[in-house]
Amino acid sequence: MVQTDLRALRLVHLYPDLLNLYGDRGNIITLLRRCEWRGIPLAVERVSLNDRFAFADADLVFMGGGSDREQTLLFRDFQQHKGPALVEAAEAGLPLLSVCGGYQLLGRYYRTHTGEEMPGLGLFDAWTEAGSTRLIGNVVAEAPFLGEGVGLVGFENHSGRTFLGDRGGIRPLAQVVAGHGNNGKDKGEGAVYKNAIGTYLHGPVLPKNPALADWLLARALERRYGDGSLTPLADHWERTAHDSVARRFASR
Ligand code: GLN
Repeated sequence: MVQTDLRALRLVHLYPDLLNLYGDRGNIITLLRRCEWRGIPLAVERVSLNDRFAFADADLVFMGGGSDREQTLLFRDFQQHKGPALVEAAEAGLPLLSVCGGYQLLGRYYRTHTGEEMPGLGLFDAWTEAGSTRLIGNVVAEAPFLGEGVGLVGFENHSGRTFLGDRGGIRPLAQVVAGHGNNGKDKGEGAVYKNAIGTYLHGPVLPKNPALADWLLARALERRYGDGSLTPLADHWERTAHDSVARRFASR
């Protein structure tokens, strides 16, 4: 029987009704299961348009991807109702995972192919401009910060090209081995700033990349309880799924 861990966590799912491309919701399911298997209670709070939330009370934030249409619908709400509290909490170390459209809106701005500029929260010193083609396909990338030899796999589909500045030590989450990543040019994929992560990887990303899921959970536990230790899980199927993608696409 699984022992109940006293270290309960609270996850905020931002705009679950608007940002859910290519199964991004699977990331929430992964976090829930990995907590459940360890007896860690994880409560999920759905926060969307017009909702306000005291992000200082959250342990983890997830924001999925969406097309330009959804981004247009929510970027003002994101700035007005979530922005200041979310940025303050993330600057203080709140762990966060953002995918594609969400990642773009956490940067300084996203300029669409029609020239419309959506200001972002500026948590990431990064900016995104749409190109004339879409960057689509499977991605295999090396992510040494997750451990030696650990890589990330996923699926990308975006027209935005994201470039990173250097404020606060922001750095790419991973280095692309196959695929396009942030901009198709500099081999960077995603961003890490403090405990906040941005990535172009859908798929969803966490089921096939358990090391990234556990990195987020460990940061959340460490921040709330001063103890980020996690019981190791067998991860047989997770590793099989990860390795089959890595083998198939890295060799192309
Ligand atoms: N609208 C963005 C782009 O195409 C984000 C797309 C996405 O979230 N997959 O760049």
